[in-house]
Formats: sequence, C-alpha cells, structure tokens
Amino acid sequence: EYKLELKGICKSFPGVKALDNVQLSVRPGTVHALMGENGAGKSTLMKCLFGIYKMDAGEIYLDGEKIEVKDPDDAMSKGIAMVHQELQPVLARSVGENLFLGRFPTKNYGPLKVIDHKKMYEDTKMWLDEVGMDFDPKAQLGSLSIGQMQSVEIAKAVSHQAKVVIFDEPTSSLSDKEVDALFRIMNDLRDKGVAMIYISHKMDEIKRIADDITVMRDGGYVGTWPAAEMTTEQIIAKMVGRELTNVYP
Ligand code: ADP
Ligand code: MG
Ligand code: MG
Repeated sequence: EYKLELKGICKSFPGVKALDNVQLSVRPGTVHALMGENGAGKSTLMKCLFGIYKMDAGEIYLDGEKIEVKDPDDAMSKGIAMVHQELQPVLARSVGENLFLGRFPTKNYGPLKVIDHKKMYEDTKMWLDEVGMDFDPKAQLGSLSIGQMQSVEIAKAVSHQAKVVIFDEPTSSLSDKEVDALFRIMNDLRDKGVAMIYISHKMDEIKRIADDITVMRDGGYVGTWPAAEMTTEQIIAKMVGRELTNVYP
C-alpha cells in the first residue's frame, strides 16, 4: 500500500551519526512532510534515497519491491526525482537542454547528445504546459527567476514520469505567487498518484499541502502522524523533544 518505504537507514560521517535507524513510509498520491530542526538529518536521508550518498545500512522499497540506488542517474531511471535545496542547473544552457540532459556533470561538460533540437524544444514546451508554465523553451536558464528554475526542475521530474518526487526546501527563494504555482503542480501530481516528500520549516505551507508528517530529531526517527491531527505546537514539541512552555505568560 506504500509507494515508498525506507527502513532502518543509517549513515555516518566522520564524527557524526547523521542517520540512526530512520524509517519513512509514503503513501501514493500524498504529500509527506519531513520535518525536524536544522541538522536533524532530513537532507542526508533524501540524499541517500536519491543516490547522492551511499547509506551504511537500510533498505529502500518502491512499489513493494526492494531497490538499490547506485547514483542519481540510477534514481532517475527508477522513477525517483529530486528538486534540490541548492539548485544545480546549467545556467548557460537553455530550458530545453536542462530538461532533457538528466543530470549535469559539474566539470568537463561534454557535447550535447541531443540531435533533434526541434523535437526537443517541442517536447519541452509540452512539459512546461503540463506544469502550467509558459516560457520560451529556448531561453537560457540563467535568465529565469529562481521560481521559474524550480518549475523547470519540476517539469523535469514530471517529464521523467517520476513515481516519487523529493522537494528539499523548495520555497526558500520563491515569491508567494511562485509558491501557489508550485502547490498547484503538487496537487496535480497528487491526483496522478505520485508520492511526494516535502521538506520545509514553514508551518503555514505544511498546513496547506501536507497529508502526513514524519518528524526526525538528531538523526533519529520520532514518529509519523496525519497532518490534520497535529497542531503547530504539537509538531514543534516533537521536533525539539519536549512540550513547549510559554516563557511569556
Ligand atoms: P537537515 O537537512 O535536517 O538540516 P542534514 O542532513 O543536512 O540536516 O545534516 C545532518 C547532520 O549530518 C548534521 O550534523 C550535518 O552537519 C551532518 N552532515 C551532513 N552532510 C554532511 C557531509 N557531507 N559531511 C559531514 N557531515 C555532514
Ligand atoms: Mg538544514
Ligand atoms: Mg537540509
């Protein structure tokens, strides 16, 4: 019944146990908020899922089947997409090139393998339409706003027909209008049965978009709840590990 299940994930860096037996179960067609204070391990967990980090222990199940994720290309080919906290687009390339190149090596970027540019730009236009975006597929990515660049990343996830999309603090540099556009796209993906993981510290966003909430603390798993059943105060108490007391009575 779960689209994605992470079980017993462990990951250490020298001197830091970043993930200690963490679990996450995401239902199809839902937005699952992953919450926790800075340093709780949220990004590390997502980087393990996306194959950026190799986990020390743990299992990943997609549609009930155990999978291994070797690297981000492998993750993409298995239907997992990630809209990064730090955007990694190739600013000098066009929207279409960014959409169709998959992932971008940061050095010694080789020649494009795409031959049929006309078809590439037609397809790009189609996928941008799909996510409600209307801009020139030939525009250089560097000429777009951060929100538009995020849309390109999302169009990329949609065009790869991702089953799971990870959003790691996607709205940190978005305008209110761009956040509305993002949430519209997420609602469409929800209708298509896509499982989404949403990392954000913004409680108003969590209230608007999340179906379920998982809280992490100090690299550990705290719990999972239906979002509608949790007040902001309860969520924060789980994140910090104690009930909040009003220091200004
Ligand atoms: P969050 O996304 O919840 O803010 P992170 O996953 O970024 O937390 O970090 C969890 C812990 O792992 C922190 O203590 C952080 O310093 C550490 N960490 C994350 N990435 C690395 C890395 N590449 N090398 C060493 N330590 C790291
Ligand atoms: Mg952080
Ligand atoms: Mg993070």
